[in-house]
Amino acid sequence: MEKRTAEVIVDIAHSEVDRIFEYRTIDGVEEGSRVKVPFGNRVVDGFVMRLKEESDYDFTKLKSILSVVDEIPALCGECLSLVFEISARYHCPKALVLRLFLPGEMRKGAVRELYKTYVVPGQNCDMPISARAKSRAAALQEVKEKGRIGYTELCAAFGRGAVAALVEADALSLVKERINRSPYKQVGGASAVHDLTAAQQSAVEKIKSSDKTVQLLHGVTGSGKTEIYLTLIAKTLSEGKNAIFLVPEISLTPQMLSQLRARFGSAAAIMHSGLSAGEKFDEWWRLRTGEAKIAIGARSAVFAPMENLGVIVIDEEHDGSYFSESNPRYSAAEVAKLRAERNGCKLVLGSATPSVETYLKAQEGEYELISLPERINRKPMPEIIMADMRREVRRGNNSAFSAVLRDELSDCLAAGKQAILFLNRRGFAQSVVCRECGYVAKCESCDVSLTYHSEENCLKCHYCGAQYKMLRACPECGGVHLSYTGTGTQKVVGELKKIFPEARILRMDNDTTSGKDGHFKILKKFADREADILVGTQMIAKGHDFPAVTLVGILDADMSLHFSDYRSNERTFQLITQVAGRSGRADEQGKVVLQTYDPANYILRFATSYDYEGFFKHEVSLRKSTAFPPFAKIVRVMVTGGEDDKTLETLKNVYFALTELYEANKSEFLFFNKMKSPIKRLQNKFRYQVLMRIKNNSLLPEIYERALKFTTRDTLVYVEENPANLS
Ligand code: ADP
Ligand code: ZN
Repeated sequence: MEKRTAEVIVDIAHSEVDRIFEYRTIDGVEEGSRVKVPFGNRVVDGFVMRLKEESDYDFTKLKSILSVVDEIPALCGECLSLVFEISARYHCPKALVLRLFLPGEMRKGAVRELYKTYVVPGQNCDMPISARAKSRAAALQEVKEKGRIGYTELCAAFGRGAVAALVEADALSLVKERINRSPYKQVGGASAVHDLTAAQQSAVEKIKSSDKTVQLLHGVTGSGKTEIYLTLIAKTLSEGKNAIFLVPEISLTPQMLSQLRARFGSAAAIMHSGLSAGEKFDEWWRLRTGEAKIAIGARSAVFAPMENLGVIVIDEEHDGSYFSESNPRYSAAEVAKLRAERNGCKLVLGSATPSVETYLKAQEGEYELISLPERINRKPMPEIIMADMRREVRRGNNSAFSAVLRDELSDCLAAGKQAILFLNRRGFAQSVVCRECGYVAKCESCDVSLTYHSEENCLKCHYCGAQYKMLRACPECGGVHLSYTGTGTQKVVGELKKIFPEARILRMDNDTTSGKDGHFKILKKFADREADILVGTQMIAKGHDFPAVTLVGILDADMSLHFSDYRSNERTFQLITQVAGRSGRADEQGKVVLQTYDPANYILRFATSYDYEGFFKHEVSLRKSTAFPPFAKIVRVMVTGGEDDKTLETLKNVYFALTELYEANKSEFLFFNKMKSPIKRLQNKFRYQVLMRIKNNSLLPEIYERALKFTTRDTLVYVEENPANLS
């Protein structure tokens, strides 16, 4: 029977209109189409979720869809069905979820497809041309010889008038062709394809034959995980299926891209926030139309517009960038798992340092565990030398460099090799460390480090809200050299230049990587050996493969340990392992110097001996005994608004509604309190929060429901689960 009605979701992100509206459909509308519909007294964009024969309403009273926006439906069938599931999981309006599936600029109508006009011989191309019309004759001749020439180029050579006259006479005709703006053209496609080692081969086979959806590939740095991903993707393509390959936000490196280009050519499309609007749109379109078959990108590429998926890969699965910190607050791995299940394909999570949560699932048998304990060619892991910075201070060395790091740097430079110096961005999280004995100020009831609040000149615990007076001297040793901030990259580069005036130094941090290809350019320079030392923050820790790097210096290994977060240990272990893994990847043995004020710390001990298992066992038992994730869930309800009193009013409502829930289910809660957020005002918004720790997810839907309904015109309420950052 004829489909006469369309179920439409309007593109307005408000819970009051977050439901299906029915319209009469018109020609050309398909499921997944973007359409214009009348809504109240406006015209708005909408998405057709479903077409059906009969309406549940009186058909004669339905309004009609006005027009169709795109040539082919913007959303594929799988995406449509995911929308409901994702919206239910993260308790957010369906319009917001739908937007994840489209390039933002396309929604705003700010970007269109790009066409180029060509000239080809027309019906009358053999017509005689008067000898006096030299340009015309020459232009016609040129097109007949070449078969096809760009309109602009032809006009430039023979004059617009001559071309127009030939087109008018049908001697030439014009054709429009769609062209793709393709990103990172400068990245070539030359890269060796390796024969898999026996270990890689058996990993591929184990993944292929597993009956589980999620596969955890736990391989030390340099164990050849990338080659395994590429093999899996190539197999998928040969089966006529599509693939999604997620990498952390900042590790879409030139090397990774050139490997992919070499292997897959234009079958690979890039989805990345750094692309121009036109590039984003065209790459998305190539995937949607099936011209490209592999979506490569950061978190948002998990929403790639394709069906028939054969594999989804998430590299460096432990990376924080896979969690969205704005609404909808989704986890890319969770969405990837939903898609893998729907497609009956594998989700491969790879890491040298899996998150505790993921590894636990692998141990408990929910995920398949594949281990690669050795580097390619059995190359040993780089040796990690600890430098005790307390001793340096006692000796009067107040610089950012220990004596051993200086010596190693000077050897490395003399040998014509490269070095990477890593500085923790978290170092700026202002915890208080005694530079003489290594004492760190901690909360008495939570065992997390305190954060310095300069505004009020006091120390606070971000978990329970307790406040402490500022310290004038160390309570352990009485020393007065307390440090409140880490050292910045700029300062480090300054010191380096004094010690090694000849060395060529590159700096990579948030300040130096702005712009479209910012970090790309710096990495490329370093890879091309245009610098000897690369100084940087977190963004140099990931996946890079620089063969000439034989020394890595970790300047402030402990800084992330003292960050007030239950994941501090995990983050520190991951960072050290990842950064150390940049050293000695080619022929030469690598070295790592790790500077610390706390050399006895067990996390550092596990990291320097590359003992992931040891770290994991220790951390799991700690989390279990203190009831922290994954053995409990931290839930934060945030209330933010531009006016303090209105925001506080909303907080009271939220708190009251949640207190009822808490009173009725006390045994389910490990912690419950309301407080000001650590950062009370951010971008001119006041921020309050209700912080909870619950034993399991059973009360979660009710927490969302009770809290979210208090969102008003003036204040926003949102819920975060195990937030990565409690500031
Ligand atoms: P990971 O992703 O596990 O850190 P990579 O995939 O970057 O490791 O591999 C480390 C190095 O080993 C790279 O330089 C890569 O080119 C090389 N490599 C990978 N697989 C092989 C192989 N089968 N034979 C030879 N070299 C390989
Ligand atoms: Zn002290």
